[in-house]
Amino acid sequence: MQLRLTNTLNGRIEDFHPIKPGKVSIYCCGVTVYDLCHLGHARSYIVWDVLRRYLTWIGYEVTFVQNFTDIDDKILKKAKEEGSTMQIVSERNIQEFHKDMDSLGIIKPDRMPKATKCLDPIRNLIKELQSKGVAYSIDGDVYFSVMKHTNYGKLSGRDLSQQQQNADGRIKESEEAKKQHPFDFALWKSAKPEEPSFPSPWGQGRPGWHIECSAMVKEELGETIDIHLGGADLIFPHHENEIAQSESLTGKQLANFWLHNGMVNVGGQKMSKSLNNFTTIRALLNQGISPMTLRLFVLQAHYRKPLDFTHEALNAASKGWEGLNKALSLNINHGEELGWTNDYLKTNNNLNSKIDLAEEDKMFRLAMNDDLNTSGGLSVIFELARPLRTLANRLEHGEANQLSEGEKRVFYQKWVSLIELAKVLGFKPEKIINSKPQQVNEESILQAIEDRKKAKSNKDYSKADSIREDLRRLGIELIDKSGGITEWIKK
Ligand SMILES: [Zn+2]
Repeated sequence: MQLRLTNTLNGRIEDFHPIKPGKVSIYCCGVTVYDLCHLGHARSYIVWDVLRRYLTWIGYEVTFVQNFTDIDDKILKKAKEEGSTMQIVSERNIQEFHKDMDSLGIIKPDRMPKATKCLDPIRNLIKELQSKGVAYSIDGDVYFSVMKHTNYGKLSGRDLSQQQQNADGRIKESEEAKKQHPFDFALWKSAKPEEPSFPSPWGQGRPGWHIECSAMVKEELGETIDIHLGGADLIFPHHENEIAQSESLTGKQLANFWLHNGMVNVGGQKMSKSLNNFTTIRALLNQGISPMTLRLFVLQAHYRKPLDFTHEALNAASKGWEGLNKALSLNINHGEELGWTNDYLKTNNNLNSKIDLAEEDKMFRLAMNDDLNTSGGLSVIFELARPLRTLANRLEHGEANQLSEGEKRVFYQKWVSLIELAKVLGFKPEKIINSKPQQVNEESILQAIEDRKKAKSNKDYSKADSIREDLRRLGIELIDKSGGITEWIKK
């Protein structure tokens, strides 16, 4: 059985073999920390968490690096709005990011470099690109010259004769005029006097977005890595530009495998901040949707395909998780009746379930090896959980005394197997908390607006943000107008 993955580089499903036997190096593009993460981020990080768990489970030693973009126009804009600093906004959102990822049960990357802490490698890389003649500086800005790089477009299939429509949305029109080719992109941007900036051979400024990933990959993992991850919306221009920067320097392939996850769609449109059709992870969890329900919702779809976000689909996932959780929690809810005491678990924890449940194990691997077919993996898990759920129902009806020791042992084997396979997909037993929807009236909205205003004037932006989030999940959107006035609308 061989793990096969779809490689965006050629669009084919290929056998996965790492560069160093037994070891896998992974780089995943992280978030720009200007706000809370939404469900689109949750999807991305859940599927890559599962990839990592699966690789580890089949015996690889995985090194997983994911960055934080903590210098960016959006962060500066947010800081300006709040009257705070880039660093305060970034640090706060990094903490919030960790909170969300922890609640979703996502294993922390081994290393999480920040752009602001990686400035030397970034500046060095830009200098090297300039000395190779693939970058040019103009008025304190430095651009990468795409025409000097053969193979530009190899990941995304873009052609240099196509016109760039400001594809990454992060380039200002004034910059466009300076560029030799519309696809050229900034490696270093000169800063306005009031903006935070860092010294460089080209003057005070800050790095472009794409260069930070090239610098971090090289710094943390080397010139060629096994797998580079990201959302499909990063293929162009971000990943294409990472390839151009890194490969024109080293002459080597940046990543052997490029894996991209599909987007979360709302009513046929990609969920994004800019379209304002997003639901934050925090809001969903605050609504009482369990992290494991979200995980199940995400993993039911193939990672490359679009995932439609609807409340019906989320409810279905919630029901599915309830059943699975019942089976996974057998020891918690019925350990005593089953005689699965701590002593029993200790004596039997070396029980080799794989011998007895070889078929389930094989089916699970077959599915996962087939381009990480998590929905196939889930079918195996649900099949395994079925008799255990029935058992839980029997126990709830007081039928414990009808079970023989032999039966209990067989169930135990199944349960151990279930726990193990479920863990590969990141599922763990969860206490179900029932939450009732909250009532909302005008008075409480106005009070919340007032509280948010106070929090803001005390520079407690975390509190201010969470007030806005709380209202949002009740269907109330706040609109900040000039002069410190905040209006609200019902969505
Ligand atoms: Zn990146």
